Formats: sequence, structure tokens, C-alpha cells
Amino acid sequence: MNTTEELIKLSAAEQRTALLNKEVKATEILDSLYAHIDKENSEIGDFNSLTKEAAYETAKQVDEKIAKGETLPKLAGIPLALKDNINMKDYKTTASSKILENFVSPYDATVTKKLKENLIPVVGKTNLDEFAMGSSNENSAFNNVKNPWDLKKVPGGSSGGSAAAVAACHSTLALGSDTGGSIRLPASFCGIVGMKPTYGRVSRYGLIAFGSSLDQIGPFARTVEDCAMLAEVISGYDEHDSTSLNLPAPDFTTNLNKDVKGLKVGVIRELYETGLADDVKVALDKAIETYKNLGAEIVMISLPLIKYSIAVYYIVATAEASSNLARYDGVKYGYRAKNCNTLIEMYNKTRAEGFGDEVKRRIMLGTYALSSGYYDAYYKKAQQLRRLIKNDFDKAFKEVDVLMCPTCPDTAFDIGSKTEDPLAMYLTDIATITANLAGIPAMSVPFELDKNNMPIGIQILAPVLEESKMFNFAYKLEQMALFNKKYKNNYEK
Ligand code: GLN
Repeated sequence: MNTTEELIKLSAAEQRTALLNKEVKATEILDSLYAHIDKENSEIGDFNSLTKEAAYETAKQVDEKIAKGETLPKLAGIPLALKDNINMKDYKTTASSKILENFVSPYDATVTKKLKENLIPVVGKTNLDEFAMGSSNENSAFNNVKNPWDLKKVPGGSSGGSAAAVAACHSTLALGSDTGGSIRLPASFCGIVGMKPTYGRVSRYGLIAFGSSLDQIGPFARTVEDCAMLAEVISGYDEHDSTSLNLPAPDFTTNLNKDVKGLKVGVIRELYETGLADDVKVALDKAIETYKNLGAEIVMISLPLIKYSIAVYYIVATAEASSNLARYDGVKYGYRAKNCNTLIEMYNKTRAEGFGDEVKRRIMLGTYALSSGYYDAYYKKAQQLRRLIKNDFDKAFKEVDVLMCPTCPDTAFDIGSKTEDPLAMYLTDIATITANLAGIPAMSVPFELDKNNMPIGIQILAPVLEESKMFNFAYKLEQMALFNKKYKNNYEK
């Protein structure tokens, strides 16, 4: 029998077996997790707040049901960390911003409701870049999150807290949000699995909006199977989200181990031939070999417009952010500046004091791109290019089943090394943002370590609504990955 200390390092599927075999109680898993978090959270900084009362309430229900021999939903009793830009009723949702520092959610996001229905205990709310704007988690108004593999390095952003929590075994599962890579990039930097669903698959109701046409909530886990199970739980139609797709409940797990023989993997030429760190290139070549050995056919695919994607994204995302963030004016939510004589002064001071530098930079960029004199030159052009990028993907998927590239051209960088240069920071997103622009599903699978022992993630992208095929390819890669055999759950090494 495993000790509880060992159990918290296992996958969700393994923890479920232990629960059903009555080797451990759901409440005991929480005891062990919280002890672990208490020891390390001040150092890693992954949680903004803990939601102990709610977590234990759910875990107790699970233990009672197991004692009575009742059947349980697939992930019942498995701890989950929730990004702090997703609402959970009666608990704080801060988006790691001073402007929402004391905001308590009056309602549950749809995904939070689904977690409750599935008896998944929420351990706490995780740190992020303020309003999910960033790639390194250095834009949080509260503190930096550190990468559990090397505390001098960033965990990636913006869902850095969620990724670090799962990597450090402070939680078995987590949810994040991905507008331009904020699930996949931190998953890659922290050596775990992270996935962005097709746009519209998962309800955005109750997610604090950043770029509404790009935002999707998605799962983090330590294995592809766990990630697929959690994706099933959170997917589905929601009348509260006008962009939600009305489709039957998906099945992402049945086909995980299907043969990929004879299927085609497209390697994105623009993210293969130039700009990759040496070790990342070596890992990508190994992933290519792996698929060849599994009998898949490898095809080089060119997506020539990828070079414009950063420019397009940072116009579309900032334009939408400037509009979404107009609601924080000191009247309706959160922080209000003191000692103001007029309404305008109150608006101005509240926003000046409440938002951090990166958020202000984005609001200014977005407002500029949408202003009447520049709308055609920037916003309209960006939207036109976005369509052409989407067309390139549609064309590519006529030739191949899935696409593959590294999740990031390099591994996690040192804290502070890019904060002075926003453009260098924005370039970190080159491999991830296209999936958001095209609305397609994409995920990161940990595959190798670089020479500094930092994880390298491989990204798999699939056509709209083809998550199940993507999970199948990811699962096969995971089974063959050295990472999976050697380093899983072992960041301490
Ligand atoms: N790094 C990107 C940005 O700063 C993506 C963020 C995200 O996906 N939320 O906009």
C-alpha cells in the first residue's frame, strides 16, 4: 500500500483506484496535499488563496458515497486547483490584480458548477499574470510564481500557478485559461500536460474576460489520460455563453490507445527549420522518429502566415481587452480610489492605481488599434489576416490528421530576464497563439529534458472539434516519451 505522501504524486486515474479500493480517503488526500502546500507555497507561490472549507465538504461527500458503495463520477475526490480568474461562489476571484484584490464571486462559473456536480474538490485559487496577460507569471500584482523544477526560472504564463501546482504535486489536476498559449506554455515549462479545447467547447461563463474571441478554459494534468478525463468534465453546451457550441457530450478517452499507423502528422516547417534552441530541435526530431516508429507518416507542412501571427494576436487581443476591461471603473467591482472630487477623477485614479503596467500597456495598445483613425489600418487588417491564417490551417488539415511543433522554441527562462523587453516576451508565444487565432484545439505533452534538466513540451494541434484524435496522438507520444518513464512526478530529481 502507498503512503498518502506517495499517493498525492500519482495520477488521477491511480488515485481513483486507491479511493475505490479504500486504501485512502478523499479527505486524507486533502490533508496530505495541504501539508505539502503549507511547506512550499511561500517558496513556489502557486496559490493566491486556499478554498479548504469547500474542498473538505466535497471530499467528505465522496468518502460517504464510497462507504455506502454508491457509484461516483470519474474524477470524484480528485483534487483540482482553479485559476484565480475563474469564479467560485463565496470565494475571492482576483485575476491577480489589485483592482479585484478583495472581490468575492457572487456566482459559480459554469466550469466550477461542473466541478461541483462531479464532486471534484477545489483546493485553492492559483496565481496568474494579471488578467491573464503575460507569458511568465511575472505580471501578477501579488508575487511571482516559481518553476518547481528550478526556482530561479519562470513557470510560464499566464496560468503559471495552475501549472506549478500540478508539477509540484500540490494538486492532481488544475484548470487554466488560454488566450494565446497560457495553458500550453506553462504546461511545457513545468513538465506537465496542458490542453486548449476548440473555441466554444467549454463555456466561458464566469471566466474573467481578456480576449473574448480567443479565450478558452482548459485542463492541466500529469498524464494525457487525466487531461482527457477533465476535458470531458468541463465540456458542453451552456446557454449562458453565446459562443458555446451545442453538441453532445464528447468522449475523449475511449480512443486514447488507438493505433496511429497510417495516419499523417504534419510538422510545421516554420517552427522546425529556424529559431529553435538546440535541445528543443533534438527533442522535436525524436518526436518525429517516435511517430515514424509507430507507423505514422510524417509530412512537412508550411504555414507561411505564421510569421504575422504575433502581430495579429497582439492587435486582436489588446483590442478586445481594452473593451473588456472598461468595466473596472471603481463603480461596479472591486477597488475604488479614495479622496476623489469628481466622477471622472474617480475613474481615472481607480484605474491608474488598480491596474499594473502590462495591463495598462495593453489597454492603450487596444484603444489605439480601435480608434477611428487607425481602425482600418490595424484592427481590420488584423482580422483579415486572422481569417487567412485560419484558411492555412484548413488547407493543412486536408493533408494531415494532426500538426506538430514544439510548444515553445525554448525552455523556461530565468526570472527577470525578459521583463524589460515586452517584445522579447511576446515572442515566447510564437508557437501557441495561432491555435487561438484559428479556434482549433491544441495541447502540450512533456517529452524530454534539456541540458539544464528543464522540461521540453511537444505541441499537437488538431482540426476544430477533433480533440479525440489529438488526445490519441498525445497519448501515443506520452507512452514512448523518455520523460514519462524517467521523470514523471519527479521534479526534485
Ligand atoms: N502570453 C499571451 C499574452 O500575454 C497569452 C496569454 C494568455 O493566453 N492568456 O497575451
